[in-house]
Amino acid sequence: RATKRATRSVAAASAAAAPPSAAEHMASAAAALDDPAALEALVEDAVVWASQHGLLVGAGLAEPACAAVHAPLALLPVPYPRATFLRAKAAALAFNAMVDAVARDEAYLQEVLAAAAQEDEFTGRLLRVLRDTAAERAARRDSEGVLAVLRSDYMLHAPTNGLLQVELNTIASSFGCLSTLVSRMHAYLLGRLGASEAERAALPGHNAMDAIADAMGGAAAEYGGQDGVVVMVVQPGERNAYDQQWLQTRLWERHGVRTLRRTLAQIAAEGRLGGDGALQLGGHRVALFYFRAGYTPADYPSETQWDARLLIERSDAFKCPTAALQLAGAKKVQQDLARPGVVERFAASSDDAALLRSFFAGLWGLEDVSEPTTVAVIEDAIQHPDRYVLKPQREGGGNNFYGEEMAARLQEARAAGGGLGAYILMQRILPPAQRSVMVRAGKAVTADTLSELGVYSTYLRRGDRVLLSAEAGTLVRTKAATSDEGGVASGYAVLDSPLLV
Ligand code: ADP
Ligand code: MG
Ligand code: MG
Repeated sequence: RATKRATRSVAAASAAAAPPSAAEHMASAAAALDDPAALEALVEDAVVWASQHGLLVGAGLAEPACAAVHAPLALLPVPYPRATFLRAKAAALAFNAMVDAVARDEAYLQEVLAAAAQEDEFTGRLLRVLRDTAAERAARRDSEGVLAVLRSDYMLHAPTNGLLQVELNTIASSFGCLSTLVSRMHAYLLGRLGASEAERAALPGHNAMDAIADAMGGAAAEYGGQDGVVVMVVQPGERNAYDQQWLQTRLWERHGVRTLRRTLAQIAAEGRLGGDGALQLGGHRVALFYFRAGYTPADYPSETQWDARLLIERSDAFKCPTAALQLAGAKKVQQDLARPGVVERFAASSDDAALLRSFFAGLWGLEDVSEPTTVAVIEDAIQHPDRYVLKPQREGGGNNFYGEEMAARLQEARAAGGGLGAYILMQRILPPAQRSVMVRAGKAVTADTLSELGVYSTYLRRGDRVLLSAEAGTLVRTKAATSDEGGVASGYAVLDSPLLV
């Protein structure tokens, strides 16, 4: 019965002239959106607030490197079902415990990723880092320092009204700081529009910025010593540096911990590993390596970068993440966890397993294209390309295949008898459309949009002691409904926040 009702409401929504927006829930927003002069004034308020409060990204100019522009943003928050939002937040601790259990089972990682590693060199290299450092790490098992800053991403699935997980990010989970600022900006703009106290209370607010900085500070404190530093592993020419720099600033202000920004190549050149596992860099002992790079093959253009990765893995510093934790976030692992009995094996309890499983979309492996279930799902995806997404073992956006391109790849693999062992097939999630005003470089565009919710969580473990496990704020990214991919840094989406309804 629930499905029928949901189908009807989708049909009703698409029959209506325009999908809902914040305006539907706030008369003041409706007035501002209907009047071009009021809209222009509101956009200006947003851009000024963003510039004044560090809601910024690099301008993308070679020179000067310090040039900045406001981050791509939604002018008003997007209506989001309250109960669903709270349910996603409540799952954070279960994901923390589960993914750490996966990361600690290296035999499982080697086994589940073996087929993908055959066809994807990057996955193979990361597995090799695990193998090559196994003995050294085993000797330090009791003091192993792991920091997880996860972001579990979800989309509402309109046909069932359910919330389905897109992916679980275990490395370089970004936008926690800018998302904190977008929530504040939306509260400010609603105030400017004259929203009532009740209307403003529908903005949940959060502080991912401080939550993540505090987890990093906690890792540095647990590592101990006076002059331990955090090394943020960065990409050369990073445009999203302001989101990262906020963490550095807060880490200093709240914990008195310094951060050095270094590329993998710089770490390879400067890092000195002592016999006791201490890694010295820039005259300091490194307490924590925090990766905002290293998640894509492009970050390893030569052996030098892999040398750095090995050096880090061999050191006694906390790692956010370890190579194992990075691999635990692989799309292939996500797909395997959905098989009967697998998430149940890693979750902390059967209640946790049931909760986690409730977010899983349909997921299929493609390592054996003659296996009957695989044959059937490939055939269905070729017949109905709009119902599936084909995903490689990649991070950072812009890597998936959709529609006819996906169907062509599947046909090719079927004819060749394989070749997609490093890919997964995923049920396409169909979020409800919303009407949003997206602002990029000062220009506003109104469009039908889809939103993706992210929930941050932090987790700190030393040896067998779990020192922290917490939900750590949220992110909403909104993209044009006509765009398959999401991702703010990759240029598809804007930063948004939820208006709970
Ligand atoms: P990445 O690690 O590169 O961010 P994602 O799995 O998040 O990979 O995919 C990138 C984007 O593609 C998502 O932000 C989302 O917009 C879209 N996407 C991914 N999986 C699905 C899906 N199953 N259904 C619909 N859209 C999806
Ligand atoms: Mg990802
Ligand atoms: Mg993603």
